[in-house]
Amino acid sequence: MDFQRDLDLEAFREEVRAFLRENLPEELSGRIRVGTRSPRAELTRWQRILNDKGWGAPYWAKEHGGTGWSVLQRLVFDEECTAVGAPSQDTGAQKLLGPVLNAFGTAEQKAEHLPHIFSGERQWCQGFSEPGSGSDLASLRTRAERVTGEDGDHYVVNGQKIWTSYAHRADWIFLLVRTDTEVKKQAGISFLLVDMKTPGITVRPIVTIDSCHHLNEIFFDNVRVPVQNLVGAEGEGWKITKFLLNNEHATAADLPMLRRYLAQIRALATRGCDGGSVLLERHAFALQLARFEAELAAVATLVQRVAAMEQDHSPAAHAMGSILKIRGTELLQKMTSFLTEALGDYAAVAYPVPQHGDDGAPLPMQEAARGVANEMFFRRASTIYGGTSEVQRSIIAKTMFQL
Ligand SMILES: Cc1cc2nc3c(=O)[nH]c(=O)nc-3n(C[C@H](O)[C@H](O)[C@H](O)COP(=O)(O)OP(=O)(O)OC[C@H]3O[C@@H](n4cnc5c(N)ncnc54)[C@H](O)[C@@H]3O)c2cc1C
Repeated sequence: MDFQRDLDLEAFREEVRAFLRENLPEELSGRIRVGTRSPRAELTRWQRILNDKGWGAPYWAKEHGGTGWSVLQRLVFDEECTAVGAPSQDTGAQKLLGPVLNAFGTAEQKAEHLPHIFSGERQWCQGFSEPGSGSDLASLRTRAERVTGEDGDHYVVNGQKIWTSYAHRADWIFLLVRTDTEVKKQAGISFLLVDMKTPGITVRPIVTIDSCHHLNEIFFDNVRVPVQNLVGAEGEGWKITKFLLNNEHATAADLPMLRRYLAQIRALATRGCDGGSVLLERHAFALQLARFEAELAAVATLVQRVAAMEQDHSPAAHAMGSILKIRGTELLQKMTSFLTEALGDYAAVAYPVPQHGDDGAPLPMQEAARGVANEMFFRRASTIYGGTSEVQRSIIAKTMFQL
C-alpha cells in the first residue's frame, strides 16, 4: 500500500466530477435520500445516462461490458456520485447478481438479463433472508421441487422470504431455495431467477422505524419457475452465495456516506442557531467534530488498505472487510445521532421539503434538518443488514485463528 498522492486517481476524480457537472440533470441531483434506492423512473433515467457514457456497469470487468475500474476508482466514483446526491443504481443487480451471472450464468441467462441491467429497465431484489434464517442463512426452508409438466420442467416454489428491500418495485428476484432436504444443509440450496409477476407471489410491506417502506415480506405459493432459470447446477446455491457475498469488501464501511454526513456536520458547525450562537464555538460540539474528523481519516486509511488487499486477492480482505463494516456502520450511527442532537427541536420533525421564511428562502436550520431524523433511524439497521456486527466479529475471530 502506497500513501503517496495517486495522480492518476486524482485525474480520474476530476473526470467523474466533470461528467457529473455536465450530465447529472439538475432535477435529479440532491434527490436521493441517502442509503436508499431512487424512484424507479429516476433510477432508469440516470442508468441510461451512465450507460451512454460507457459507465453502465461501474463495478464489472471490461470483458463483461463493465468499466474495468480498479477498486479505488470504483470508490471514487461512488464518493463523487454520493457527494452530489446522484440517483442510486440498482446495487443488487450491479454488485450482487451481475457478477454472479457473469461467472455462473448460461449464455441464455446472460442474453436475457444483462442488457436490462445496463439499461436499468429491469430492477431486482434479493430473496435470501427468511423468518428464522438470517445470520444462519444456510438453514433456509423455502422449498423448490422439480416437476415435469406439459410446458416443460419447472421448480414449484413454496415458502416465505422477509426483509426483502424494494421487492415492491422489483421486476425480478434472485432467490435462494432448498432443492434437497436429504443432504447437508449447505448442499441442498439452489439459486433461482424468478419473475415477480409469476402467479403465486404475494408481496407485503414492512414499514420501518424511519416511517418509510423499503422492506417487504414475500410469500411463494406454488410458484412455477422454469428450470432454465436455475443459475449454476442444482445444489450449487451456497457456493454461488459465498461468491456473491465475497465481493466489494472495501465498500463495507460506506465511506461515501460517512463523508457526506461529515460535510453536513461541518456545514452545521458554522451556521448560526436560534439566538445567534454558532455551534462550533461550543466546546462539546468542536471536540466531537474533531473526533469524527479523526475517525473518518482512520476509516479512509483502512478502506485504502482493504482496497489494496482486494486488488491483490489477499485472503485477509474478507476479515478486513468485516472490520470496516463494524467501524463504518458504528460511525454512520454516531454521526447521524450527533446531527440529530445538534439540530435539537428542528430534527424532531422530519422535514421532507424545506420550509420557507417570509422572504421565500429556505429557513437555514430547517433546510439543515431535512431528512436527518429519517437518516438517524434508518442507520439503526446498518449494523444488521449485510451481516450483523456480531456475525462480523465471528468472521474476524475465525480468520485471525486461521492466518
Ligand atoms: C434494512 C434492511 C435491509 C435488508 N435487505 C435484505 C434484502 O434485500 N434481502 C435479504 O435477503 N435480506 C435483507 N435483510 C436481512 C438481513 O440480511 C438480516 O436481517 C440479517 O442477516 C440478520 O438476520 P436476522 O434479521 O434474521 O437476525 P438473526 O440472525 O435472527 O439475529 C438476531 C440477533 O442474534 C445475533 N446472532 C445471530 N447469530 C449469531 C451468532 N452465530 N453469533 C452471535 N450472535 C448471533 C445477531 O447478531 C442479532 O443480534 C435486510 C435487513 C435490513 C435491516
